[in-house]
Amino acid sequence: MLRDSYNRAHTYLRISLTDQCNFRCVYCMPNEHMKFMPAGHLMNAKEILEIASLFVKQGITKIRLTGGEPLVRKDFKEIIEGLSTLPVELTLTSNGVLIEEHLETLKKANIRSINISLDTLQADKFARITQRNLFEKVYKNIVLLVENDFHVKVNSVLIKGQNENEINDFILLGKDLPIHIRFIEFMPFTGNHWDQSQVITHHQILEQIGSVYSYQKLEDAKHDTAKKYKITDFKGSFAIITTMSEPFCGDCNRLRLTADGKLKNCLFSAEESDLLSTLREGKDILPIITQTVLGKKFSQGGQFAPSFEETDPEKLVNRSMINIGG
Ligand code: SAM
Ligand code: SF4
Repeated sequence: MLRDSYNRAHTYLRISLTDQCNFRCVYCMPNEHMKFMPAGHLMNAKEILEIASLFVKQGITKIRLTGGEPLVRKDFKEIIEGLSTLPVELTLTSNGVLIEEHLETLKKANIRSINISLDTLQADKFARITQRNLFEKVYKNIVLLVENDFHVKVNSVLIKGQNENEINDFILLGKDLPIHIRFIEFMPFTGNHWDQSQVITHHQILEQIGSVYSYQKLEDAKHDTAKKYKITDFKGSFAIITTMSEPFCGDCNRLRLTADGKLKNCLFSAEESDLLSTLREGKDILPIITQTVLGKKFSQGGQFAPSFEETDPEKLVNRSMINIGG
């Protein structure tokens, strides 16, 4: 078991496959800071499998593939086929554009649950946020996943002035479709011009939903990052990821591997450990993994003020979200 100095067992690994993306969401990929990783710096399919296998031997039971956009990797099929041989729950976060092309591969890999990001239900706003005119395609692919019996979570990052007026439109999606909407509080990363006044909090989201619907709290599992709710007779549910207003670090079981093979013990850690270079030198990476886990700070990489309103984004040492892998 990979335990940190607070005795938290780490069982969940998020692997970023690439920092490339077919979208340009500005809160994630800041144009002015964006330098894509050279292809030779990325883990190849064999290296991903080798590193993932080692983590599984150390007690990892769940792996999420992310990015950038994981489905733009040319060797995605090979990667997922390799990972599906491991005794682990495999899942994916995607912007949804290439789902149809990869549907059979995802089914064969026995992926049952997929997170699709969608910040608006308005085609023109979608084009402004992502800088791509692909709303219809993403929406159709969400429905396709539901029709194919995937457990579909829709991730929506709420940013003041951008989409908080659509909260109840998203809720309505779950009336007839078994879709699980997850509202995410906007987080600060390098270059994304985060400001505390743009965060729509858990409390504000519930207030807006409560003005139209009556909802019930659902029970959250131990390591859940989302606080789950349900509206009576709706097929879907909704949840709120309260990273900023109510951090949930106490039960954290997550580690992150960037596309260039660096291990981060927290989404907000300043430190990272270079597993890939060590692997390519033919050396054992387990001691580095163990040390990195032991060095994990209790909360938010040890970089945030006790309240997010006092956190100075200029002082945070990190990567942009697209470089980490969300
Ligand atoms: N391309 C895929 C996608 O969009 O789902 C996977 C990678 S993306 C970085 C993973 C998740 O991080 C998405 O749901 C995205 O909305 C979220 N994200 C990106 N930047 C964020 C930020 N500043 N605050 C909160 N969530 C963010
Ligand atoms: Fe690409 Fe996802 Fe980031 Fe948007 S949120 S730019 S789709 S990685």
